[in-house]
Amino acid sequence: MEIIIADHAGFCFGVERAVGLVEETSRKHTGVYTLGPIIHNPQIVRKFAEQGVGVCEDTDNFSNENTVVIRSHGVPKQTYGDLSEKSVNVVDATCPFVKKAQNSAQKLGQGGASVVVYGENNHPEVQSIVSFIDSEYFIVSGEAEANALPFREQYALIAQTTQNSESFDKIAEILKTKCSGLTVSNTICNATNLRQAAAISLAGQVDTMLVIGGKNSGNTTRLYEICKGICPRTMHIETKDELCKELFKDSRKVGITAGASTPGYLVDEVIEFLKEVTNEQD
Ligand code: SF4
Repeated sequence: MEIIIADHAGFCFGVERAVGLVEETSRKHTGVYTLGPIIHNPQIVRKFAEQGVGVCEDTDNFSNENTVVIRSHGVPKQTYGDLSEKSVNVVDATCPFVKKAQNSAQKLGQGGASVVVYGENNHPEVQSIVSFIDSEYFIVSGEAEANALPFREQYALIAQTTQNSESFDKIAEILKTKCSGLTVSNTICNATNLRQAAAISLAGQVDTMLVIGGKNSGNTTRLYEICKGICPRTMHIETKDELCKELFKDSRKVGITAGASTPGYLVDEVIEFLKEVTNEQD
């Protein structure tokens, strides 16, 4: 059985940076919390909990004795104000690409356009992006919702960083028919595009595809959906413990990819497991 690992599998730049900042902060300070899980990966969140880093969903109970790390997805604008009022020490691990989306949202709204954010309504990153918009805005999760938007003089389109580029372009085309002037700022980050392109290419070459990452991770789930559409025998797993040797008895070529929030050691464990299966098959 051949094992092929997709290019660009696992931690992206922003997640690596955020995880590194939590590690560094936990060494330097006590009373450290992340505001919401630092990334959508339960294994990493558990590891930090063991190192004494707590997860708190809101700012209510913080004081000047706490250090709070803001996650890579970012937080609503108001949260910065709340933390500053309480004199909390803040370490901002918001990914620079999310910052760019927040800044674009703010600028486009100030320009007077109705801002359309292509993303998941309840996702924390989308909630953080829209909090920077002072004008009217709409969140659309796909083409159907874009089609239902009203006519406006000016629309501006941005995206949650992990969305699909093809759908983004289609939504831009739809919006052109709904306004007199459209400004497009493609805020989808390259890490997502690269991961998706590599996964698409690999899923077409293998008979079994494993997508590793948090079940609560949006970008991992999207990788899974894309791969499943190409390679019907695609499985979404968080760790090697979800696998058994039986699953691979008919497999000749197994492809592996991992979401941007999946640590390398979880990928390595799956590879080790598959090597054992291969050795037994020989
Ligand atoms: S996927 Fe992109 S935007 Fe999100 S954390 Fe990674 S590098 Fe940043």
